[in-house]
Amino acid sequence: MKHMAFLFLGAALFAASASAQSKLTVVTTTEDLASIGREVGGDHISIESLARGYQDPHFVEAKPSFILKLQKADLLVAVGRELEIGWLPPLIQQSRNSKIQPGSQGYLDASLGATILEIPSGTITRAMGDVHPLGNPHYWMDPENGKRIGKEFADKLSEIRPNDRAYFQQRLADFTSRLDAAAKRWLAQMAPYKGTKVVTYHRSFPNFAERFGLDIIGYVEPKPGIPPTPQHTLDLINEMKRQNVKLVLVEPYFDLKTPNAIGRDTGAQVLVMPPSVGGTKEVTDYFKLFDYDINLLVEAIKKTGAK
Ligand SMILES: [Zn+2]
Repeated sequence: MKHMAFLFLGAALFAASASAQSKLTVVTTTEDLASIGREVGGDHISIESLARGYQDPHFVEAKPSFILKLQKADLLVAVGRELEIGWLPPLIQQSRNSKIQPGSQGYLDASLGATILEIPSGTITRAMGDVHPLGNPHYWMDPENGKRIGKEFADKLSEIRPNDRAYFQQRLADFTSRLDAAAKRWLAQMAPYKGTKVVTYHRSFPNFAERFGLDIIGYVEPKPGIPPTPQHTLDLINEMKRQNVKLVLVEPYFDLKTPNAIGRDTGAQVLVMPPSVGGTKEVTDYFKLFDYDINLLVEAIKKTGAK
């Protein structure tokens, strides 16, 4: 009995010391980052995203509530590679929160350890209308990069809360092994369809395509961030007919008018495929994003006989 009482006292003291340190308040720009951060941070952090997954992450409408959230944040995590350049910098400035200014300890660029595709060579000018000047910022669409983002989170959270390092590292290890197991399943599902040709609206899926073996032969947008033009659409239709492309993948926030016209002309199926957590109601976390997209693709490939 005496021993039991001692254990209870120990547990009570431990609980008291743990709660003495309040949860870290983490804000992310996207729901993908919030999902990965939640995996790693567990109940030692509170975390929420500014943008919703059904919004175009390049062009998020800034709301006053965003500034309030940033004012209270201990840590801000951004996708980086200039994905948020159109909306985030003024919000950070207006928050007047010194902790989360770029370069401060409470600002994390999640792209630091990630594999980035399509890094341009030569001189880049905004006149090109390109919203991907530092390479493709949709890098979270590869689970390997998801693991790297998780590691960035764990290291940053450990840096801010060194006493919780073991907790964050343990959660990272758990997240990594569950993601590895899931990725093995996703790769097996996609393996029979390696090399399937698709067109996508925006360049949201190069990392996904490279990992899971899709061949993206063209884009509905003539350049990232530039709406379709009649000439580009005509060229794309001709190329799709030439290569017998049967799938057009469209992010949930783009107008379906041009994709549907392309579908009618080529016989291709138009699929609305979310590139983000929160992109559709079933996709509530990072694992479900790949579950959903891969099931959607496999069904469509079977139905259309796409190759
Ligand atoms: Zn983009």
